[in-house]
Amino acid sequence: MSQLPLPLTKLIEHLKKLPGVGFKTAEKYALEMLHWDRAELEELGSALIDVKEKITFCQTCHCLMDEGCFFCHNPKRNQNIICIIEKPLDVFNFEKTGTFNGVYHSLGGLLNPLSFKSESALHIDTLLSRINEQTEELIIALDATLEGEATTLLLQEKLQNHTIVVSRLAYGIPIGSPLNYIDGGTLSRALSLRSRLIRN
Ligand SMILES: [Zn+2]
Repeated sequence: MSQLPLPLTKLIEHLKKLPGVGFKTAEKYALEMLHWDRAELEELGSALIDVKEKITFCQTCHCLMDEGCFFCHNPKRNQNIICIIEKPLDVFNFEKTGTFNGVYHSLGGLLNPLSFKSESALHIDTLLSRINEQTEELIIALDATLEGEATTLLLQEKLQNHTIVVSRLAYGIPIGSPLNYIDGGTLSRALSLRSRLIRN
């Protein structure tokens, strides 16, 4: 028999399923919740159910939405600039910068020969169907990894007959990094994709 009462053990087992949460942390969270009053616990319970019942994926951009898509159904966003991302949560990284006012398209993954993630598993058809005469630019914003590169190449192939601007995130030196800390691959990319300071 466990030293902890069964309901507490059960709660710890559930909390342990979260990424980065081991037994000690789960135990700490569970003991903390023991001091919450009933109303707080009920709120937590219904928030958990709401996540499952009220959040869906937008049929257009495949990002998370509740009542309507914050991006696709938002007249303040530029619907003609589409940033292509790997997964819905990537949106938050770009939104935190506060510099992008276009919309997104989540591919739902990257090409990965090892896990047999193939082209048909990605939301490429819906991306192509979004492109129209008003589309100004597609920005490919994928990981700088082998999978990201393979997916970018595939997109390049698929988009080559469209007369729209297709760009990708710049590769380069992280802000605040001295040059001698930069690896050769990053430095050579930064050199070949250098940007002009003065255009004479
Ligand atoms: Zn959407």
